[in-house]
Amino acid sequence: MTSLAHFETLAGSIELPGKAIIDGKLLASASGETFDNVGPRDGRVLNKVASCNAVDVDIAATAAREAFEDGRWRNLHYRKKKDILFKLAELMERDAETLALLESLDVGKPIKDSLAVDIPGAIRTLRYYAEALDKVYGEVGPGTPDRFSFAVHEPLGVIGVIVPWNFPLLMAMWKVAPALAMGNSIVLKPAEQSPMTALKLGQLALEAGVPPGVLNIVPGLGATAGKAIALHMDVDMIAFTGSGAVGRLLMQYSGQSNLKRVSLELGGKSPQIVFADCPDLNAAAVQAAWSIFFNQGEVCTAASRLLVQDSIADAFTESLLRAARKVSPGDPLEPRTNFGAMVSQEQMKTALRYIDTAQKEGASLKLGGHQTRADTGGFYVEPTVFTGVQPKDTLAREEVFGPVLAVTKFSDADDAFRMANDTVYGLAAGLWTKDLSLAHHAARKLKAGLVWINGWDSCDLTMPFGGFKQSGFGRDRSLHALHKYADLKSVSITF
Ligand code: NAD
Repeated sequence: MTSLAHFETLAGSIELPGKAIIDGKLLASASGETFDNVGPRDGRVLNKVASCNAVDVDIAATAAREAFEDGRWRNLHYRKKKDILFKLAELMERDAETLALLESLDVGKPIKDSLAVDIPGAIRTLRYYAEALDKVYGEVGPGTPDRFSFAVHEPLGVIGVIVPWNFPLLMAMWKVAPALAMGNSIVLKPAEQSPMTALKLGQLALEAGVPPGVLNIVPGLGATAGKAIALHMDVDMIAFTGSGAVGRLLMQYSGQSNLKRVSLELGGKSPQIVFADCPDLNAAAVQAAWSIFFNQGEVCTAASRLLVQDSIADAFTESLLRAARKVSPGDPLEPRTNFGAMVSQEQMKTALRYIDTAQKEGASLKLGGHQTRADTGGFYVEPTVFTGVQPKDTLAREEVFGPVLAVTKFSDADDAFRMANDTVYGLAAGLWTKDLSLAHHAARKLKAGLVWINGWDSCDLTMPFGGFKQSGFGRDRSLHALHKYADLKSVSITF
């Protein structure tokens, strides 16, 4: 049985990655500048990380372009590509404990979750796309007696991958794996709060035999490294997960440069609806707690709005609060901890600000509402539940990206669907009911890219993932993601 002491010793004995990986080499930034990588567990600086700017990005994008054009990856036999990606998955498995530790140190998430969710999820994603890479077929057109026509999927070229800090390795892998599977080269920028697993991935990819220049990792700040990738004339596409504000900028940068393709996985304010005929109220209450408090609420699909039918609202809220009291902030490196630190002081302050606003707007605070474990120096916020939140309230409209739940009552199905859709977002939505007709009706009525019935987050890697409305466009996961990283070329041969 692993222990806190085990992970503390491991943290003290491994080298924390901080160098960029460009064209197969581990490098300091060209300017020599670094940024402090702060650990949310205790607020201390973990290490200094290369702060890449437009010069480093240019070197990385040029290396990626060369790698793409000379075909060192793209033109490898598909069996060889597959072998290399499977080898990478094996190396990630070998180093899974280290990867999990790096993730928990960087993000503050419980080591239990890094070990059971983030790292295995990233490895599964890699294997899924490695298995799929020789199953992408083109099409043969109807043709004519004197003409043969076909369409092929061709890799796009250089993909700029820009990811957030909440599931750093998993979000990166959702993009890196299908992009590599299709034969592209990559310039990946991890979030400045969580660079370490991406840098470790880059090292393991070289060890596995991914040729130099194919997977470049440029840590750095969003407004310098991220912007430089998005403006670069040799980057063919930006695959982004993050906030709507940055998503808007990326579309501008695309327009100001080479009209590179942009795919955006953005935020959410996802509603979970509990009807009075819910098949298992207790299970729904436990799920309602975990669907907001998992990963400290720093989840794009967090069920941050809970809509409960008025006839069961009081009893259901009691069950919810019972479940929520079992979620208790602790040291992320303690294996029993089920709720860790928020990623940064800034994110903690944002959550506390929303809590303050909700109180001022008249919502009723039923649980939590404060910073906690302040003596550690880390960034911890209590799991927080508000009832009586009105659809017009800030807490019902804006994404907190923290452990704050807004509970609202509704009268009937039309009322529930109206409230659920009354948002600029459209990432996920869910409902609990025994009524199959109502479930089908709701699935069509709810404006969201993901609809979950009688369970939350119940789709897996085999299903497309992404948003409607201002939650973005383009899909991660499933075989659809492969086509995102390819262009369709039509060829006709006239006899
Ligand atoms: P963010 O948009 O601030 O940062 C995301 C990434 O963009 C980081 O790597 C950052 O350095 C970079 N960036 C910042 N400014 C940039 C610029 N001007 N040009 C280019 N890159 C820039 O988001 P965040 O705070 O890291 O993450 C939280 C957000 O991500 C939330 O809104 C959340 O809902 C969303 N998210 C969405 C999904 C999804 O799949 N839909 C998954 C996880 C997180």
